[in-house]
Amino acid sequence: MDKREIFVKMASIEERIGDLYREIGELKDVIVVLMEENAQLLVENQHLRNRLDKKPASPPPKQKETHKQETAKKKVVGEGYDNLARLYAEGFHICNVHFGSLRKEGDCLFCLSFLSGGVHK
Ligand SMILES: [Zn+2]
Repeated sequence: MDKREIFVKMASIEERIGDLYREIGELKDVIVVLMEENAQLLVENQHLRNRLDKKPASPPPKQKETHKQETAKKKVVGEGYDNLARLYAEGFHICNVHFGSLRKEGDCLFCLSFLSGGVHK
């Protein structure tokens, strides 16, 4: 392989690396969109669950919930709260203001007040 061949080969590799670099950048953008969408759905799901739990019991329940069912319901709410706390720890907004987008600037006061206030107690 003479020097010119080596140079041509190097230029071709450089070009391919440039293409790969660009493709990685594009994939990264797609992943960010997917992650944000996933986080938004998780937050929305949790908010909807909370709303369902808060809904007044009308018409009145046919049968009084057993203690076991009530405990199960409380457990679900607790799990939802944990899910949101984890989501926040993973770097997503869980507040209504920025809702499921990636946190780019450290802690968010809206999220923190949401977390410290609890989902509902
Ligand atoms: Zn936030």
